[in-house]
Amino acid sequence: MKAPIDWLAVALLVGLIGPPRMAATGVDSLRVAGPRKSATPPSSISQQSPIDIRGDDLQVVKKQAVPPLTFHYSTHATVDLENTGSPNEEATVRANVAAGDGEIRVGNRVYRLVQFHFHTPAEHEVDEQRFPMEMHLVHKAADSSTLVIGVFLRAGAANAALAPMFSQLPKQSGAHVTVSQVNLKALIPPHEESARYTGSLTTPPFTEGVRWVVIAQPIVLSKGQIAAFAALFPEGNSRHVQPVNGRHVATDDSHFERDEGVPAGRIH
Ligand SMILES: [Zn+2]
Repeated sequence: MKAPIDWLAVALLVGLIGPPRMAATGVDSLRVAGPRKSATPPSSISQQSPIDIRGDDLQVVKKQAVPPLTFHYSTHATVDLENTGSPNEEATVRANVAAGDGEIRVGNRVYRLVQFHFHTPAEHEVDEQRFPMEMHLVHKAADSSTLVIGVFLRAGAANAALAPMFSQLPKQSGAHVTVSQVNLKALIPPHEESARYTGSLTTPPFTEGVRWVVIAQPIVLSKGQIAAFAALFPEGNSRHVQPVNGRHVATDDSHFERDEGVPAGRIH
């Protein structure tokens, strides 16, 4: 088991000992090694998701340098829960959100929450570790640009906010269930420190230019809730991590720490 990684310390270390070119530009070349998992040589231009978020890949930025997130999420939304093709590994259960029930501000931009869905196991990794599930909250700006909030899910107590949905997950491909009184606000962890980078959709057509915000602190759900989702996707429905290719990953969190082999984030 590795020691906990202090991202700020990593950044300081890199800044101190890095070559002059890196120190001058500050960003582009923190990752110069080859791919860690994929046998496919990385393309110098591809910017795909998900990625393995590693301490030694990060350009850690000061907290005030990361635009704050402001969530305006309904506490009593009605969602259209849809099975988009189980057991297809690219399929999921997606909650379509009505206009007006979810919005996020990042800096000066406003994004509307269009839908959220789930993957098992998690798609993003933290130092090569995977959570059992990951939720993606997909937002669109007026110019159609996309921002996705990634939230890790770990096993623990039952999750009351997910319960109305996970107790009646539509099992057949194409099936819909209308679920009311969904507390969208409770789906976001109390601590919103995150890793941010530019990537892609993780399902076809893998469109790039997606702004990713992966929140460090996981939310908790029960093993029974995980099993209810996993039963629909026995082969899993996650894409493997993709090469970082020197992308800038910014974070305002220096505490992605390991806990008994699990990337625990910060658990309070
Ligand atoms: Zn997704």
